[in-house]
Amino acid sequence: MSLTIAALREAPGENRVALSPEVVRKLVKGEFQVLIETGAGDRSFYPDAVFEAAGAKICDRQAAIQGADVLATIGQPGKDVVDQLKAGQTLLGLLQPLTDLDYVQELAAKKVNALAFELLPRTVSRAQTMDVLSSQASVAGYKAALLAADRFSRYLPMMITAAGTAKPTKVLVLGTGVAGLQAIGTAKRLGAMVSGYDIRPASRGEVESLGATFLTTSVSATGEGGYARALTPEETAQQQAELAAFIAQNDVIITTAQVPGRRPPLLVTQKSVDAAKAGTLFIDLAASALGGNVAGSQPDKTVTTAQQAQIIGAGDMASQLPASASDMFAKNVQAVLTAIVQDGKLVLDVDDEVIGELLATTNGEIISSRVRDALKLPARPAAKPAESTETKGVD
Ligand code: NAD
Repeated sequence: MSLTIAALREAPGENRVALSPEVVRKLVKGEFQVLIETGAGDRSFYPDAVFEAAGAKICDRQAAIQGADVLATIGQPGKDVVDQLKAGQTLLGLLQPLTDLDYVQELAAKKVNALAFELLPRTVSRAQTMDVLSSQASVAGYKAALLAADRFSRYLPMMITAAGTAKPTKVLVLGTGVAGLQAIGTAKRLGAMVSGYDIRPASRGEVESLGATFLTTSVSATGEGGYARALTPEETAQQQAELAAFIAQNDVIITTAQVPGRRPPLLVTQKSVDAAKAGTLFIDLAASALGGNVAGSQPDKTVTTAQQAQIIGAGDMASQLPASASDMFAKNVQAVLTAIVQDGKLVLDVDDEVIGELLATTNGEIISSRVRDALKLPARPAAKPAESTETKGVD
C-alpha cells in the first residue's frame, strides 16, 4: 500500500502551496498518492487542472485531511484541521514549534507526528535540501529588493540622460544572513549603491563578495550554529546609537535581522525613524506580531511617518513571489519525504541527527531537543551511533 501525501489550501493571505506540480509528478512516479484540496494552488497560479495533470487527485478539504498519511503545509494549520487529525498522521510544515508550545503539546496529546521546518539543524550538510528557512529567506530577500525598486520614489541605478544625471540610490541592508545577502545581490544588480551590516563579523566576506560595502559597529555577537545571539540591553543601546548614523545616510533600509526563537532585535529606533527624511523607505522583513527590526513597523501594512518616510511591514515577501517560493518549498518537502520513507513506509528515526531534531513530537513524546528545552523537559537519552539505511528515493 502506498503512502498518501496531501496539501491544503492555506489560510487567507498566504499565497504559497506546499506541493508543486513538478514535485507531485515525482511523488506519483515514486508510488505515492497525492491529494490536493480544491483551489490549493490558485494563489500560486497552479490551478487544479495542472495538479491533476501531474497525477494528483483533487478533493475537498475534509477528504484531503482524512486521507493523508502526511499533510504538507506552509503555515501552521488551524483548529479545523487539528481537530480532524488522528493518531499516527504526520504534519510537515512551518508549525511555529518554539513560539507556540501549546500547539505542539496539543499535537503530542493527539499522537500526531509533527515535523517542523523551523527545527531543522541547518548546518548538517544533508539537511540543506530540506532547508525551508533558507529557501524562503532567499525568495524574500530578492522580493524585498524589487519592492524597494518599485516603491522608492527615484531610480535605483545612476542614470545619465539628456535631462540630467540621477545619482544612484543608497540601499542599506541590516542583517546579512540568507535574506539579506539575496537583497544585497538583487539591489546591486538593479544598480543601487549598497552596503550591508550584520552583528556577525563573519558576514563581511559574503557581503564584500557581492560588491557591497560591509559596515561594522563596536558590538559583535556570534552565537551558536552560525546564528547571532541576543544582545544585552547595554549592547542593544550601543548598537542602535551607532546604527543611527548609517541609517541617516541611506535612502532605502531593508532589515532582515532575526535571532532564532526570540523576538526580532530592534535595530531602527523611533528616534531614527523620526529623523528619516521624506521619501526614506524602510522595508522590515522581520515585521511580525512579536515586533520587527524597525520601530512602528506593522505586519503587512505601510506606515507613513510625519516626515513622509515609509515603513513597510514585509514579513510576507516569500508569499508575494508565490510560484517560485512554492516550487522551492515543495522541493524541501520532497527531500524530507525521501528521508522519512523507507520501502513505502514512514520511518521516523528519533535518533537520527536531522529527523530527531526536525521532529517536534511523535507517538505522544516531545522529541526535538529545542522544544524539550523550551518546555523545560529533561534531555532524551543520547542517540545510538547512526547505522546506514537505504531510503526509498523520490528524485
Ligand atoms: P536569521 O534569519 O536567523 O537572521 C538574519 C541575520 O540577522 C543573520 O545574519 C544574523 O546574524 C542577523 N542578526 C541577528 N541579530 C542581529 C542584530 N542585533 N544586528 C544585526 N544583525 C543581526 O539568519 P539566517 O539567514 O537564517 O542565517 C544565519 C546564519 O546561518 C548565516 O551565517 C547563514 O549563512 C548560516 N546558514 C548556514 C546554513 C548551512 O550551513 N547550511 C544554512 C542556512 C544558514
